[in-house]
Amino acid sequence: MSRTPLPRRTCECCGRTFAWRRKWARDWERVRYCSDRCRRSGTGAIDRRLEARILERLDGRAARSTACPSEIARTIDPAAWRDHLEPVRRAARRLVAAGRLEILQNGRAVDPDTARGPIRLRLVRDR
Ligand SMILES: [Zn+2]
Repeated sequence: MSRTPLPRRTCECCGRTFAWRRKWARDWERVRYCSDRCRRSGTGAIDRRLEARILERLDGRAARSTACPSEIARTIDPAAWRDHLEPVRRAARRLVAAGRLEILQNGRAVDPDTARGPIRLRLVRDR
């Protein structure tokens, strides 16, 4: 028996993809977040700023350069940068979904949904 894969969508908060669920049958078109936690958290001005900061930092560098999320977080808040680490990672995943960024581990692009541990960020440039 073959099964059609369930439709998937990118969460507007955490940038991970999630699959259709029965409870969303009636309003799947309007579902924007993967979880209640992401829905409550949403995205705001700071999140847009983090996305812009990632792109800015990398744009000024050589084509294949990478950046660490902690480096981006430090530019936002040098003292409490650790508080911004997860928001930077979420921003990075949203940028991957938008086709602007790659997330690397050991020098290779990885799936942001499943990447665990240290990551580096690299711009996707027009070829
Ligand atoms: Zn989410």
